[in-house]
Amino acid sequence: MKPTGFVFHEDYVKHDTGEQLYTLGEQKMLSVGLEFENHLRVCLIKEMLEKSGLLANMTPYAPHLASDHDLLRVHTQRHIDRMKETAQKGIRVFGPEVYGCPVSERIARLSAGGAMKAVDLAMDNRLKQAYALIRPPGHHAGVDQAMGFCLYNNVAVAARYAQEIYGLERIAIVDWDVHHGNGTEEIFYHDKSVLLISLHEAGYFPMNTGGAEEVGTGGGEGFNVNIPLPPATGDAGYQYAFENLVFPILEQYEPQLLLVSAGQDPNGLDPLSRMMVMRPGFRYMAKSMREVAEKVCGGRLAILQEGGYSLPYLPIATLGVIEGLMDCTIAFHDPHSIPERPITQELIEAVETVKNVHSLYWKLNYSSSLSL
Ligand SMILES: [Zn+2]
Repeated sequence: MKPTGFVFHEDYVKHDTGEQLYTLGEQKMLSVGLEFENHLRVCLIKEMLEKSGLLANMTPYAPHLASDHDLLRVHTQRHIDRMKETAQKGIRVFGPEVYGCPVSERIARLSAGGAMKAVDLAMDNRLKQAYALIRPPGHHAGVDQAMGFCLYNNVAVAARYAQEIYGLERIAIVDWDVHHGNGTEEIFYHDKSVLLISLHEAGYFPMNTGGAEEVGTGGGEGFNVNIPLPPATGDAGYQYAFENLVFPILEQYEPQLLLVSAGQDPNGLDPLSRMMVMRPGFRYMAKSMREVAEKVCGGRLAILQEGGYSLPYLPIATLGVIEGLMDCTIAFHDPHSIPERPITQELIEAVETVKNVHSLYWKLNYSSSLSL
């Protein structure tokens, strides 16, 4: 198994997001259980990694809190002050679809700190790769706004940290969370020193962002790659998108560090998506990221937890990610496994649309040597 760092802090469970409520008119609320982004997510993933024996083969690290200085590389002082104030007052709503409790601002700093720790491990020659089991997630948080379960943008804080501390000039972020990484896009939209490739379900949260035509602007034009995919894309469809877009673009960009916004919410049982990716698909995506990193940046790879909301399947999907990252397969029968879905014409057309837009910036009509 490949030596791999594991970043986690027991306080991640203290970020309490409350209940998932449906409003049915004046004063009429229906609670359907815990909020989607709840503490059981990281508990179950960690337990899966423990009981599968994988965690015993990883090197554990605890993160520090991200400082104001760390957060200010990405966010405004106004945003940080607003997050602090909301927490101090005990207000539940931190932003659109963002819920928390009085310690949530501190735990969000610990989550961003976890992403920074994963960068340290990726840059450490003894390890070179790490998985950070962090929450709250981050990729919807913009420069001046919390959004969609995210207070601070963990992967963006990690990328800016890597640039300042390690002097890196080119960092790539692959975001396979089923939702568009709109916060990360906003932060790096003008900036070619951070390439963002976001694969997501088309026409879904957040609405009106994530189109293929959003390519970046100014010096960053061509360095923002959105790959909106049709519902029910499945394992083979994601592989098709990786082979036709993700690999050739990464190979040409030659990042010095690869970060992954790893939301396991494209999984086939997730309540917040319809993408039908199963454990072999997640294993493939993580394996391919490791092999790309080994080819283009000396294996420097940090995989950061974003979304994933099916409590029964999130641990299995993430097991697939860690298997791909560590180059192993655990003897565990997935009770939910389904036959691989065929590649559809709709999917091929979705990938062609992105190729047409980005052929202005990248060579996309050749077979990448990274095809796995
Ligand atoms: Zn998501």
